[in-house]
Amino acid sequence: MNGGRPHWWPVYVAIGSNLDEPRRQVLSAIDALAKLPDTRLIRSSRLYRSPPMDGSAQSDYINAVAALITQLDAPAFLHALQAIEKQHGRIRDGSRWAARTLDLDLLVFGDLEICNDELTVPHPGIAKRSFVLLPLCEIAPQLRIPGLSNVEQVLRELPADASVVTVLDE
Ligand code: ATP
Ligand code: CA
Ligand code: CA
Repeated sequence: MNGGRPHWWPVYVAIGSNLDEPRRQVLSAIDALAKLPDTRLIRSSRLYRSPPMDGSAQSDYINAVAALITQLDAPAFLHALQAIEKQHGRIRDGSRWAARTLDLDLLVFGDLEICNDELTVPHPGIAKRSFVLLPLCEIAPQLRIPGLSNVEQVLRELPADASVVTVLDE
């Protein structure tokens, strides 16, 4: 028991957009995250640019990672992320990795490891995705990813064929 005091979970969210002024979408998403109920924004990374994962003719993505603390539980936090995606015009057409105005992936939720139909945390793509690991390492290099090692270490072990990610001009 914690004497009835609310528990604040440290959480990390990956933000991505490649449609409709992606830079503006990502900055607006960070604002929306900061305004979530029972949640505080701790830090956000710089903006990064990455090519689409499926190698298609989609535009490049703008990516960032945000660190927050929240009193919401993991399903409620995921639903809050999905509501922000919707407010930003995200249309789900069922195809994976399709171009989108906003994608918010829950990377890490405290020390929890969850795997059900709706939610897998840590996010299964973390260890392979340079556009997640680089911004995450900027704001939380020592973070231990449950089931893996710390972010710096995971970044060092990134597969050599991971996509090339650049920091956007400030
Ligand atoms: P990827 O998950 O490989 O990055 P994606 O972001 O394109 O692909 P989406 O279409 O945005 O995938 O999401 C598909 C489903 O993934 C959502 O309906 C959601 O329930 C589920 N999901 C499972 N784990 C997570 C997570 N950690 N963060 C966000 N969504 C998740
Ligand atoms: Ca994603
Ligand atoms: Ca997603």
